[in-house]
Amino acid sequence: MMLCPCGSERPFGECCRPILRGEARAETAEQLMRSRYTANVRRDEGYLLATWHRSTRPARVDLMTEWRGLEVLSTERGRKGDPNGTVTFVAHYATGTVAIGTMRETSRFVFEDGMWLYVDGDVA
Ligand SMILES: [Zn+2]
Repeated sequence: MMLCPCGSERPFGECCRPILRGEARAETAEQLMRSRYTANVRRDEGYLLATWHRSTRPARVDLMTEWRGLEVLSTERGRKGDPNGTVTFVAHYATGTVAIGTMRETSRFVFEDGMWLYVDGDVA
């Protein structure tokens, strides 16, 4: 059994995989955020673009970073029935072979047309 890269400590097959495959939808902003982190780990550019709000979506995504771990620190709204929400998280990454860095971001999400979408984020 492979644990999900998003740090949920649940099996990948019961966590982000069905969402990445389009077999299930993220029910909360946090679930979408976690699935997008996993998509970064797996270099799934198509999923990242598909879950990016059209108003801020780039033409392509730089997937050079090697992500090493995720911790969700807090969430505001973003539950079923909310129109929007934010998720604050810390992500650990590596560049090259040795350098390890940490990124802290508060991401904004909206619920539109039946799905959660990433809008933008403030990196601290
Ligand atoms: Zn997951």
